[in-house]
Amino acid sequence: MVDTKLLTTPVSQLRQLLQERDISSVELTQAYLNQIDAVNGALNAVITICREQALEEARVADAQLAKGQAKPLTGIPILHKDIFCTHGVRTTCGSRMLDQFIPAYDATVVSKLKAEGVVVLGKCNMDEFAMGSSNETSYFGSVKNPWNLDCVPGGSSGGSAAALAAGMAPLVTGTDTGGSIRQPASLCGITGLKPTYGRVSRLGIIAFASSLDQAGPMARTAEDCALALTVMAGVDAGDSTSADMPVPDFHAALNTDIEGLRIGLPREYFNDDLDDAVRNRVMTGLGELEKAGATLVDIDLPHSHYAIATYYVIAPAEASANLARYDGVRFGHRCDKPKDLVDLYLRSRSEGFGEEVQRRILVGTYALSAGFYDAYFNKAQQVRRIIAQDFHRAFEDVDVIAGPSAPGVAFPFGAKQQDPVAMYMEDIYTLAVNLAGLPGLSTPAGLIDGMPVGLQLIGKPFDEQTILNMAHRLQLDTDWHMAHPNLEISAS
Ligand code: GLN
Repeated sequence: MVDTKLLTTPVSQLRQLLQERDISSVELTQAYLNQIDAVNGALNAVITICREQALEEARVADAQLAKGQAKPLTGIPILHKDIFCTHGVRTTCGSRMLDQFIPAYDATVVSKLKAEGVVVLGKCNMDEFAMGSSNETSYFGSVKNPWNLDCVPGGSSGGSAAALAAGMAPLVTGTDTGGSIRQPASLCGITGLKPTYGRVSRLGIIAFASSLDQAGPMARTAEDCALALTVMAGVDAGDSTSADMPVPDFHAALNTDIEGLRIGLPREYFNDDLDDAVRNRVMTGLGELEKAGATLVDIDLPHSHYAIATYYVIAPAEASANLARYDGVRFGHRCDKPKDLVDLYLRSRSEGFGEEVQRRILVGTYALSAGFYDAYFNKAQQVRRIIAQDFHRAFEDVDVIAGPSAPGVAFPFGAKQQDPVAMYMEDIYTLAVNLAGLPGLSTPAGLIDGMPVGLQLIGKPFDEQTILNMAHRLQLDTDWHMAHPNLEISAS
């Protein structure tokens, strides 16, 4: 029998059970490992399971808990997206290129959480090099959505989102370059937070697009995200783009009084293109916030419609530079018996990278080439600045900007795979937030025909607190975030 109650309990309550010794970390860890064993065959959400290591970490956590030396997350199990380097544990980034990669160090996020005493259960499947919105580009096969196994979980942190929704861990990590935390959170019915660019160190996170990538927590509740972000955040001497800003205790500072806060609704998001059912759920969520004292106002983000085109020049350009290191010599898969150096490069990269990654490298290299740099890359950088200015101007009048997290609910496998542009549209509501470097959060807003949909809250730079407060308030007033799929999942 699956202990659904335990496997869907938020971290905030699990830590009390641990601290009061009502449950041990070993018992908790074993319960999640059992659930991983039971459902991963059907979902394919986890690539690597760290069974022995997790139980050992849980024993250490129990000893700390017994001595009364526990920190807020001591003994809490976690799954990391397979983009975070983990010392001695295979880290694939969803790619054949890194199929055999065993890092010699931990990403800063991983080591910070480790120092807190969290228990690493394993590594989650993802779109290859975090490129995708459906988890269909992983070398390790696609991840199934636990709400409907015929549908995608979203991407690229789809393994993390599916694992959390299916009770395989109470806390998971993700990264978000254009929507990869918020969109899968929306499609799997969980809470996901992309922090402000620079809030969380990128050291040891395999780079996709360095000016956009940002790591964040995904959990059942905003409160849990606040607990995790407090540990994950902070300046890092090893990442010169990490921000030297004080990190508040986001959890201690949670404030449910949202009276008088102004929420901006961009006309460009709530236009005729918005699906009616999604609009209905999002507006119902916003209605709850209004009842709690917030004011809804219409705003303009006049350059929103350039976001996709801008992102799909900048992200591939940066990716093409970042992925140049995988040449079969210094890093990555090496082809068998190369004839010469050119053959080594060609075959190693053709064999190691999947189709979508190769497409991005081609687009990015083209946009950066001498003849086209000004026409594409430079132009995209200029438009990026204008998009960011739209947000900054809007924030002179409002505290938070709200919209959908994704254009619809989870879609069937194959539905958008043949049409890259249709797939790129999945991030229409999330991309601009990365271009502007802002924090964004997706919180569940109920179901459409049995499938979850998310409400997105966008904050001012480094003001994760206000969007966490607002989501927390919504989650106190509604129970959409506690909806979960049947946890008894078996392969069909
Ligand atoms: N879906 C977007 C892309 O494919 C965003 C991915 C991400 O945020 N990592 O680039």
